[in-house]
Order: sequence, then structure tokens, then C-alpha cells
Amino acid sequence: MKDLDVNKYIENIYHIERWGQGHFKVNQKGNLSTQDLDIYQVVKEIVEHNIELPVVVRFHDILRSQVITLNETFNKIINEAGYKGIYRGVYPIKVNQMREVVEEILDAGAPYHFGLEAGSKAELLSVLSLNHDKESLTVLNGYKDREFLKLALLGRKLGKKTVVVIEQYSELLNLIELAREMDVRPLIGIRARLSVVGSGKWSNSGGDTAKFGLTIPEILNALHYLRKNDYLDCLNLIHFHVGSQITNIQTIKDVVSEGTRIYTELKKLGAPIEYLDVGGGLGVDYDGSQSTHDSSRNYNLENYISDIVYGVKQLCDLEGVEHPNIVTESGRFITAPHSCLITEVVDKIDYRENEYKNAVNLNDEHILVKNIKELWRDISEEDRQESFNDALAIKKDGDNAFKLGVISIEEKAVIETNFWKICDWLKNKIGSMDFIPEEFENFSDKLSSQYLCNFSVFQSLPDHWAIGQLIPIVPISRLLELPTEQCSIVDITCDSDGKIDQFINGGEISRTLRLHDLKKDEPYYIGFFLTGAYQDVMGDMHNLFGRVNEVHVFSDDEDANGFFIETVVKGNSNRQVLSAMQYNPDLMAYSLKKEMDQKVTEKKIPSREGVKLINFYEKCLEGYTYLKNN
Ligand SMILES: *Cc1c(COP(=O)(O)O)cnc(C)c1O
Repeated sequence: MKDLDVNKYIENIYHIERWGQGHFKVNQKGNLSTQDLDIYQVVKEIVEHNIELPVVVRFHDILRSQVITLNETFNKIINEAGYKGIYRGVYPIKVNQMREVVEEILDAGAPYHFGLEAGSKAELLSVLSLNHDKESLTVLNGYKDREFLKLALLGRKLGKKTVVVIEQYSELLNLIELAREMDVRPLIGIRARLSVVGSGKWSNSGGDTAKFGLTIPEILNALHYLRKNDYLDCLNLIHFHVGSQITNIQTIKDVVSEGTRIYTELKKLGAPIEYLDVGGGLGVDYDGSQSTHDSSRNYNLENYISDIVYGVKQLCDLEGVEHPNIVTESGRFITAPHSCLITEVVDKIDYRENEYKNAVNLNDEHILVKNIKELWRDISEEDRQESFNDALAIKKDGDNAFKLGVISIEEKAVIETNFWKICDWLKNKIGSMDFIPEEFENFSDKLSSQYLCNFSVFQSLPDHWAIGQLIPIVPISRLLELPTEQCSIVDITCDSDGKIDQFINGGEISRTLRLHDLKKDEPYYIGFFLTGAYQDVMGDMHNLFGRVNEVHVFSDDEDANGFFIETVVKGNSNRQVLSAMQYNPDLMAYSLKKEMDQKVTEKKIPSREGVKLINFYEKCLEGYTYLKNN
């Protein structure tokens, strides 16, 4: 195949250019790269440093570039539109609270006075200590007790722009009471409950029955209350958020219209609101299909921003109301592309290869055994589909016959061996085609391999497990070579849900992913991409697989490889995950040692060996929770 064809073929399988959004491409060596930084080289260096896989790799340059692009595009469109307000975005830290991530976003956003958003006390404690810019906003959403509100007012005392967004009416009463006590003027935002409902998996943050926000009567009561108590001048933001990953641009248009109407009406009633906060929802095109599929979106950044800026402007002009400053709370867009999970395929699970060869000559061979043997003997290309259907039928009959005591375990073994031979033959035929022919699609599990990868879906890709979110998965090398294996991916947890059998496929979902065959002495690394939003913090310790190792990578023109690894954040040890579950690892080792001493005393185990084994146990306590490479 010519180079050009290979590139096309690879793009057709992995769609790198489409979901990569310019951040990722295949370089001349056939390795995946980001901004001229060879990801395969990065992983080689990680492995050379004895950092064990799986590992989260963070590309700080991508993080910075997302922040800059968001701000610059807003500024550009605000200019073009002749819009009178400014853009003042905030980053909602719940999307990824890693300190290094938040600090990098603040640093890249400093020229734009980019701020932060928090939704809980722990997050508020964090943003209060991180956001030192007196111009930028600190927006506080979520349910708030008096302690939360007091912390927010502490921020006001320090001169920070901490805006308390009222989610339920009682918060307003508490806030005003505390503000009086502390003698400080609060900045107040109100979250409006819109009637618009978002689309996609995260749509239930909007609509009349949403969990959050004030209804229109409540908003008017709030206005009245503030005026009566002399705090109306503190009302300076109106907020709405209808859910993350908005897939359809129409939802954004609707949200902006309804939200802006509330703003203009409140302004006319005398509320001195300066900021219109349209929340999050800016989507990420995980499958690269630019569609309204749940894992995609039918718009780009420019469309999104234009719809906001022009939408707000038009309504305000129509009603003769001042243009507000615009706030967005985009988390997913900023963080999703900056990190990926990289791990090794450790094995191919192939029950087919374990053929039962020792069958004694079965006299009086059962008809099912006879039939499947003939089927295998006479298999041919022309009637491959018929042969496969017959084989499936015999396999099923065989399963039943065995249950009913009609065939022996040995006969069942012969049937299965022949069945998998037929599947394997077919799999090899299909391996050289571009895709699994439609008639075999439903049986792709029988015609594909399972690649066992050293990671846990529950820890590293919770959204895939919980809500079927798709993410791009790509081998990070050998991308000038045609992959021949149709695969599904299984993780190392003991849970049958610990697998991936849904893959991006240009707006559709594919049950298998094409990967390369495994070579004996060459590790095969694959990457799970666009995982920087939500996945890092939502992961759980199912099976006690803990947090994974993490490296932070920066590009560097001076360096021979064009990059350097700045930080290594160690993942959990077995000791740590056990302690989190209330175990005392020292006591555990001690109790095992006592049992061992007993055996040694009884002379059942030589003392030297006993000591070695206990040392081994203790060493494992300190080790990584994932599989060790040999
Ligand atoms: C989660 C959340 C966001 C972030 O939304 P993204 O779609 O990730 O940008 C913004 N605002 C609020 C109030 C949220 O709850």
C-alpha cells in the first residue's frame, strides 16, 4: 500500500484528525503526536523512569491553548459584533480539581482575568486560596450552608469578586443575615430555572423540574426582598446552566434567548446586573462526527460563541437594555483534550487457541459432532455465511444436548473446538477486509479478540461504564502499519462490566476496534484520549484498583526530544487503598508474620524462606495496585 492509502486507512479507523481538533496527529514515524511532541517517545521515557503503567499523561500546552483559544475567540467575536460588554469566563473546578491543572488554567488565563467556579465547600476553600486576581470572578454555585456563605463573604472581605449564586431562596435570607453580621457587601447572583431542557445525557440540569435555581416568582420575590433590605445594588449576576455536553446548537440558542429575556426584564425593574452567566455545556466532539450524537456536538467553538454574543446583543438592543458582560463556565471544553490514559495491552484472550486435541475416537459419534466436523472439513469462501449460521446452530444445539445429558463432556469439547476453528477461519478472512460485513456484525464478539489492558474502567473511564460515553482509543505507535485484529478491550477488574465494546465510528457505534497483532518482545501501548474532564476525579476504587500514576509533560524546543516531564504524581499503593477501607496494613503484615513464625517453629517452613515470603508480602503492600510488567 502507498503511504497515502495507509494514512487514509488509519484515519478511517481512528478518526484522529476529526476528534483531535488539531491537537493530535500521526507523525512520520507512525507515532501519535501532539503539537510536534511524540507521544510514543514520552511513554518510552516514562517506562525508562520506572514509572509503572497505567499512567495519566497531561499535556500542559494543550490546557493552555484551550484557555487562550476560548478567550481569544470570545474577544474576536465581541469585537466583530460591536458588542459593548466584555467576556469574563470562569473555570468550574469540579471538572478537574488537580491543583496543577487549575493553576495552569489560571496562569494561561491571567491576561484575560479568567476566574474560577466552585460548587462545594472543599472547592470553595480551594478557589479562595488560588484566585488572587481582584478583577476576575469567583462564582459560587451549588447548595450552600451558613459556613459556605461565610467563607464566600471572607473572600469579599479580602476584596475578591466572589459571587454567591443563589440556588434556593433560603440561601438569600442566610446570606443577607451573615453580610449584616460581618459588615460586608456581598456580590449576589441568581440562578434562574429555565424552561428549556438540554439534549443528551446530561440534560436534566434544566427544565421546570430541575434540581437547581429559582423560579420566576421566586426571582421577583428576591428582587423585592433585596430592595426592601437595601441590598439591591449587590445583585450583579444572573446565571443559568442547563447541563453539560450540549449536543445541539438549537438548545444553546433557546437558552440564550430565555436567559437574556430574564436579564432584560430584571434590568428594567431596576436590578443593577452586570454579568450574564450562561453556564457550561460547551460540548466536546469525542467521536469526531460533528453530529447530535450523545458523544458529539453539531457546532464548533465559533458557532457557540457567535450564538451567545449575537443572541444577547440582539435581544438587548431590541429592548434598549445595556449589553451585559458575558460569563461562561466551560469546563469540559478546556480540560477534556489535555490528558489521556496510556497503558499496555498485556494479553490477548483467546479461548479458540485452546483446542481439545485428545479426543479418543468417539465411536457412535453423535450426529451433532459429525455435522460440525464435516462443516469444518468442507468450509469454503463461497458459503461462508451459511457455514457460520450452521455452526452457530450446532453450537447451540450442542449446549442444550449437553444440559439434557444427551452428549458427553468430551463430545461437547469436540463441538466447541470445531466451532471456534470455524470462527477463527472466518475471523482471518474478515481481518483483511476494511470492516466486519453487516451479516456478521451481531456476532462480532465471536469473531473478534479480547485485548486485556492493564487498567480499570471504573477508575479511569467512569463515564464510559456509567453512561456509555464514547472516547477515542488509539495505539500510539505502528500507525503506518495496517491493524488486522478486530478487538474489544477488557480491563483487569473481576467485573464483567469492566470492558469496552463500544467504539467511535463516525457518528455510529462500533462493537469492535481494529488494533495491531501483538508482537512477542514489543510492548503495545494504547491511549484513551480526551479524558481530562470529569474522569480523573469521578473514578472509583472498584476491586481496590487505586488512582493511577500521573506525569505532566511540557513541550520544550531546547530539548532533543522536544519535551520534558516536569511532575510525577504517584498513584495509590496497595497500602493506601487498603487504609482507605479501614485496614491497618501493619497489623495485616504482623498477623501474617505470626502465622509464619508458627510454621517455622513447627519446622514446616525453613526460617530463611519464611522471612523472604513475609518481606515479599510487605513489599507488595507498598507497590502499585495494577499489573506489574513481569
Ligand atoms: C458542571 C457545571 C459546569 C461545567 O459544565 P461543562 O459542560 O463541563 O462546561 C458549569 N456550570 C455549572 C453550574 C456546573 O454544574
